[in-house]
Amino acid sequence: TKTLAGKVAIVTGGSRGIGAGIAQRLAAAGATVAITYNSSAERAETVTKSIGEAGGTAVALRVDAADREAVRAGVAEVVERFGRLDILVNNAGVTVVGPVESISEADYDRNLAVNLTAVFMASQEALRHLGDGGRIITIGSINADRIHFGGGSVYALTKAGVAGLTRALAREVSGRGITVNTVQPGPVDTDMNPADSPFAEITRPHIAVGRYGTAGEVGSLVTYLAGPDAAYISGATINVDGGFAA
Ligand code: NDP
Repeated sequence: TKTLAGKVAIVTGGSRGIGAGIAQRLAAAGATVAITYNSSAERAETVTKSIGEAGGTAVALRVDAADREAVRAGVAEVVERFGRLDILVNNAGVTVVGPVESISEADYDRNLAVNLTAVFMASQEALRHLGDGGRIITIGSINADRIHFGGGSVYALTKAGVAGLTRALAREVSGRGITVNTVQPGPVDTDMNPADSPFAEITRPHIAVGRYGTAGEVGSLVTYLAGPDAAYISGATINVDGGFAA
């Protein structure tokens, strides 16, 4: 059933990986979806095309999440184009892995800009437009709660940051009928975390379900949270991690 018919959604970083899976699921539920990307223009087009072929509606916008003005303008552009905004999914993310002594300031700054500051800026702009039934869903990471390797300091701090931001925003805006939640994936097979890498070998033993997850498995949870049945879930941190944190 088209639980999201008539809704307009933004998915940041929708050109690949988890964001593409989320965009596909939201569109299948009837939402009009705007995906953003930074460098993967062709892959973004492939995503919007496949959504179109499946009978949905999607557009792609180049919005560098590290550029806060562009982030705000991107949200405003979607509202201008479609006349409304119902769902913001903050998904775009980057990571830097390495011993804490080796983390450069440039990598630190970029991780904070994309994973944390962009989430704040996009949410701030979206809240000017979201009405009753509005949704902000941010893709955090199970690594905010449990980290099974040394070398994820910056990544974990950004993902813990969005979970805190989510709770504060939920407290502030839920009375307007807008819910704000964090979805924390565990290991999901994407370019960021391929299921066939050496990192996957050390990671898989920690996954209770015994395998990597798929982008669609994150997308289905996000689609549920975006819909009317999830109106009483706000300020939550929900794991979709195959029992990684169990
Ligand atoms: P990928 O690296 O596969 O994809 C990242 C996406 O984010 C791409 O669409 C990319 O677009 C976009 N992106 C990156 N930087 C920018 C930027 N500056 N501006 C706009 N878009 C940008 O990552 P995943 O799909 O694996 O991750 C998606 C989210 O899920 C991230 O927040 C990640 O931290 C989180 N996550 C992932 C897990 C995993 O195991 N895969 C586990 C837990 C959380 P483009 O190529 O166009 O730049």
